[in-house]
Amino acid sequence: MSKAAVSDISMLIGGAFETGSEEAETLYAPRTGAVIMDMPEASAAQIDKAVAAAGKAFLTWSRTTPVERSGYLLRLAQAIEDAAEDFARLEALNCGKPYPAVLRDEIPAVVDVFRFFAGAVRTLPGQAAGEYLPGHTSMIRRDPIGVVASIAPWNYPLMMAAWKVAPAIAAGNCVVLKPSEQTPLTTLKLAKVAADILPEGVFNVIVGRGGSVGNTLINHRGVSMVSLTGDVATGKKVLAAAAQSVKRTHLELGGKAPVIVFDDADLDAVVEGVRTFGYYNAGQDCTAACRLYVGDKLYEKLVADLSSAVSGIAYGREDDAENEMGPLISRRQRDRVASFVERASELNHIEITTGGGVADGNGFFYKPTVVAGALQSDEIVRREVFGPVVSVTRFSDTEEAISWANDSDYGLASSVWTQDVSRAMAVAARLQYGCTWVNTHFMLANEMPHGGFKQSGYGKDLSQYALEDYTVVRHVMVKFA
Ligand code: NAD
Repeated sequence: MSKAAVSDISMLIGGAFETGSEEAETLYAPRTGAVIMDMPEASAAQIDKAVAAAGKAFLTWSRTTPVERSGYLLRLAQAIEDAAEDFARLEALNCGKPYPAVLRDEIPAVVDVFRFFAGAVRTLPGQAAGEYLPGHTSMIRRDPIGVVASIAPWNYPLMMAAWKVAPAIAAGNCVVLKPSEQTPLTTLKLAKVAADILPEGVFNVIVGRGGSVGNTLINHRGVSMVSLTGDVATGKKVLAAAAQSVKRTHLELGGKAPVIVFDDADLDAVVEGVRTFGYYNAGQDCTAACRLYVGDKLYEKLVADLSSAVSGIAYGREDDAENEMGPLISRRQRDRVASFVERASELNHIEITTGGGVADGNGFFYKPTVVAGALQSDEIVRREVFGPVVSVTRFSDTEEAISWANDSDYGLASSVWTQDVSRAMAVAARLQYGCTWVNTHFMLANEMPHGGFKQSGYGKDLSQYALEDYTVVRHVMVKFA
């Protein structure tokens, strides 16, 4: 994509397009390392203006009916679908993802998020109205909260924007969204599309770094709720800011998904599953199947088969249609991943059975890597690497596997692989994760909640539960006798 194709992209504030007036961030194409453009960040005055525009729009948007808002969301979904190729090209450029995968996997999922919430907002469930005191009728309302500041990460920029914006505006809130400073392009394109559809001020996009624009936004007096998908450290900053003004918070933070593989698991299915779900998006996924615990009897064969399968993952090829994996988002992220693997490889019990190095070329690629022989206490097992690196640890009994899986600061996603349904159910019931898959991993349905606990945060994306998170429960009581 040429510079011209991205040069008309600017922030959306109160229905008008504006360019930031502060220091610029340089955007890189991770696939080649080339500069895409410099993007100036929003000024304090522009942040104020965006919050004020959202606050003003809230006065009318919050009083629209669900069917009206549903109509807007359906039109937005259609417009995104109509521009699917443009969105996919921009996302591929800005993140380095293989274009065919973005077009096939991400854009339809984004479209469906808007369609799902367009339907869901018309059927919000709630407690029955009734006379809980004699002569008094009580009813429950679920009302929007106000201005929501949404802060998104770089791993799935458009999808994370959709996960935040769709339930928030469906519920009657107005949004000021700040994409990651590294990946604003598709969010700004979304702003362009939305400007023709949504009333002004309902959806605003400002760009800039976390420490400046993000920090000003989360501390803003006009913001009633902050929704963040990002790092645990950033989540703590959001909480500290929220503590000053008692804002609502919705935090989707990191993850380190355990994958428990019992000796009776279908080995081919496990290998195929981990090859796919451990390395999708170059492992830059908080649910990535990155921490394997494998039964004693299956361990050797699994390490051999997985290493062989992972060594065949296609990346960095000229013809993007052949690529299964993209680069890391930045040189910094690639070097961070490399340092995790370097430290692991210095341990005597560790064997890097495939990968384990930066790939040749100017792009930010890291070789898909398997780290075998990892122990529960190893850094590579405990910390989020957020790269194409999977650790494999041997376990000897079920209790050990469950306790190691739960022995983590994170609590987002997990999976269990076995052909014994009773064992799968028993283990799933004891895992402390927002989601447990059985004999698969990573699969999302927009009807089902996504979110964690422990340091993975709280609050749900997707599903009816997300709509609930973006509303406040109110009680109205009428005395009639
Ligand atoms: P990050 O926390 O550095 O950045 C996320 C967003 O927060 C960016 O827009 C950034 O500008 C902003 N930000 C940073 N500091 C801020 C501050 N002080 N105030 C306000 N905003 C600030 O995370 P990242 O590196 O962009 O994304 C990767 C992280 O996100 C990983 O840890 C990953 O696990 C997590 N993640 C979680 C989920 C989930 O659903 N739980 C999904 C995707 C990514």
